[in-house]
Amino acid sequence: MRKDYISWDEYFMSIALLSCMRSKDPSTQVGACIVNDLNHIVGVGYNGFPKGCDDAVFPWQREGAFLETKYPYVVHAEVNAILNSNASVRGARVYVSLFPCHECAKYMIQSGIVELIYLHNKYDDTDSIIASKKMLDAAGVRYRQMEEISLNVERSVINDESSTFLDYVRRHCARSGYKATDYTNDVSG
Ligand code: ZN
Repeated sequence: MRKDYISWDEYFMSIALLSCMRSKDPSTQVGACIVNDLNHIVGVGYNGFPKGCDDAVFPWQREGAFLETKYPYVVHAEVNAILNSNASVRGARVYVSLFPCHECAKYMIQSGIVELIYLHNKYDDTDSIIASKKMLDAAGVRYRQMEEISLNVERSVINDESSTFLDYVRRHCARSGYKATDYTNDVSG
């Protein structure tokens, strides 16, 4: 038997990372993968505009007048994953590359997601994330940061001859080594 097979966490987080590569947002690419208690994927998503809202017409800018920015139009990865789901997400867990904002936290809670696994939290001290955690804690949604991904995938999946998927993941993850945070970081965390 092979010994270096990847864990479920690595597998599903990799799918979240692969999904974010579909995003056309030039500044932030986020992917989400929802998995039920049978370890079946029930939804995937990335941040993008609603169907029919052309990327050539709608803006990806972050600054300027509200209507000229992406904010009124973009659907976040977590919400897309919930809306794209092909089975119930009740009791499921979600893998996300970035800690969910307060809006996504609401949808996750209301759709019955019980656990959140994330890679980074670069907006940790913002009001959005503080509100997000406040709601997740109150609703009893567990969350934990994934430690380093140790994928051993040699085949390049991005259009860069020098890069492997692992390179991509490492680059995307911004930090060289994830702090192995408390894996049992639950509602009290
Ligand atoms: Zn969000």
